[in-house]
Amino acid sequence: MKRSNVMPAALALAAVLALAVTSAGAAPRKRAPAHPKPIPVKPVVENPIADLPFPKFDRGPQVASACTAGLEGAMLRVKELEKRKPGADWLQGWEALYDWEEDQSGPLIFLENVHPTAEVRAEAEKCDQRWSDFQSALGLNALVWNGAKQSVAALKDPVDRRAAQLALEAFEDSGVALPRDKQARAKAIADKLASLSQQFNRNIRDARTRVPFTEAELKGVPDSVWKDQPRDADGKVTLPIDGPAYATVMQTAEDPGARERLWRAKTNEGGPDNLKALAQIEQLRLEQAKLFGLASYDEFVLRRRMVETPARAAKFLDDVHAAVADDDRHDTAELRDAKARHLGQPLEVTRLQRWDTMFYSERLLRDRYAVDDEAFRPYFPPQESLRFVMRVAEKMFGVRYDRIDGTWWAPEVQAWAVTDVASNRKIATLYVDPYPRDGKYNHAAVWNFRNGASSVPRQAQSALVVNFDRRGLSLRELETLMHEFGHTLRNNLSATRYASDAGENVAQDFAEAPSQMLEDWVYDKKVLKVFQDVCPACKPVPDDLVDKARAARDFGKGMLVARQQLYAIYDLALHGPTAPDPMETWEKMEAATPLGYVAGTTFPSGFAHVAGGYGAGYYGYLWSQAVATDMRSAFGADKLDPKVGARYRATVLGEGAQKPPQQVVKDFLGRDGSPQAFFEYLKK
Ligand SMILES: [Zn+2]
Repeated sequence: MKRSNVMPAALALAAVLALAVTSAGAAPRKRAPAHPKPIPVKPVVENPIADLPFPKFDRGPQVASACTAGLEGAMLRVKELEKRKPGADWLQGWEALYDWEEDQSGPLIFLENVHPTAEVRAEAEKCDQRWSDFQSALGLNALVWNGAKQSVAALKDPVDRRAAQLALEAFEDSGVALPRDKQARAKAIADKLASLSQQFNRNIRDARTRVPFTEAELKGVPDSVWKDQPRDADGKVTLPIDGPAYATVMQTAEDPGARERLWRAKTNEGGPDNLKALAQIEQLRLEQAKLFGLASYDEFVLRRRMVETPARAAKFLDDVHAAVADDDRHDTAELRDAKARHLGQPLEVTRLQRWDTMFYSERLLRDRYAVDDEAFRPYFPPQESLRFVMRVAEKMFGVRYDRIDGTWWAPEVQAWAVTDVASNRKIATLYVDPYPRDGKYNHAAVWNFRNGASSVPRQAQSALVVNFDRRGLSLRELETLMHEFGHTLRNNLSATRYASDAGENVAQDFAEAPSQMLEDWVYDKKVLKVFQDVCPACKPVPDDLVDKARAARDFGKGMLVARQQLYAIYDLALHGPTAPDPMETWEKMEAATPLGYVAGTTFPSGFAHVAGGYGAGYYGYLWSQAVATDMRSAFGADKLDPKVGARYRATVLGEGAQKPPQQVVKDFLGRDGSPQAFFEYLKK
């Protein structure tokens, strides 16, 4: 559960051919790093066939022709697959198609989010749409579907059989087994949903909303946040509603009117067009589920997830609500009290507003724990922070990260070779795009655009996209980095037979768990000592600062978890057996919370998760947090224990989707998974 919005996710035939994209809260700005001295290494055994260079594009037309070549190659492979014999032969052809698609579309579509040239980004986005059309057509290919069906029956080996089974399920979900008229409708719906979701994200991304402020209105906000921001014709500072400025202003601006304006602009992002799009998305999803003979889109989606049914998801969310409701009310009352004291007014006349919560949380945090997240920046320089998370993985999982010389899609982008120490073989490449720039994706996210496989063989590749503050990271930003880095580990250390089973091709409600588990690592003093390994010259972060941060970490937990729970039940409500109006539903549900609904706001217009690949899936953040808490318990007091790390690498990271998630968790823990540890944490 990262507290942020965002995350475009591929639609259509998602389970088979989508690229894993994951995101979390963001990080920002300055300070030039020194590259740490490399640790002397043995030469790595290269396997050039298994690797692939990152493609270089300077102009739009290059992207368009690469896109066409990729699609043509994919179509040839489909033709060839249609003729294959069910069983091992079919599976080999299927995986060849999968690998081809990843190699051709993965890095190219990724560039939509990071390439410095607008023309390249625009062509990449077009290519994204073309691949999505290809996928929905493939999903309705009866010959290939038949091949999958017969292969499931023919294959005896459990890993082979599961790979074919997952392919078969994806075909069934795209409607290939439906009668012809329904099938055509299912395809039309899938295409329309893909374009509506793209449009929804575009409306948020391209609005470039900025809110003007006088310098006086920004009292309390650090100069560094606004001094270099553009001014409007009246000389007012204009601040964007995305990126790091937003949180800082909400936490520090003394002027409630300033906070309110920024908060309203943020809460209304996407605007009325997105509300219309969301209503349409909902209707289409319900119609889609009904074509399959199911009562709701929830049911359609969850039958393929770890949670399995809407009833189980709802029960879990009810239990979460029961666990945090008192804390939510208590946290709200505390903030209201803090506001009354701050303004020197009686409590009875004090009303806590939504744009007050971050501001008073920050003040209470400082008063109570004397923690200033900014105080961590000098201890965590950006480049060393990156080396730090890598070093943690090196200690836990028996791998090594070595910088690769070269230039990639933008200046300052880095590439790292990930080597398995025991075999001294390079197993993956990790790209890192560390600093903000115009036109770049402005949160923190990972694109696992190439999955590894042992049968081919084939090396994994992923890209970690962050927006580091050059002055250094705050502890929260270090936590975000650890979380995102966890997504790259899932890709880089996957050891499955087939790429289609690898890394994060797991059920969506299991995908976040390993990353969420690792967030805790940055609050551990022993783990933080690893920083001196990678930066002997860095001053160690003082123990008492970490102690306070750890005590402060769970501050406001009731309120935050209650908010996530609200998002999750809202998402499920939209995707139940009726398709209720998105705004009316939101208004009613938010009105029932301690802070109520604020008239004139349209939160759902910016709720990109629900319009994209997280529709009927938002509960997964809390669900997988429960799984993460459960798995974390195996590490006990020593989070760097290489023995537990090795078991985790083998059973969880290594297995990917080769086994059902319940089984993966059980293999690691040596018992069935349980949400008990999570509920205990919530009630603490
Ligand atoms: Zn994540």
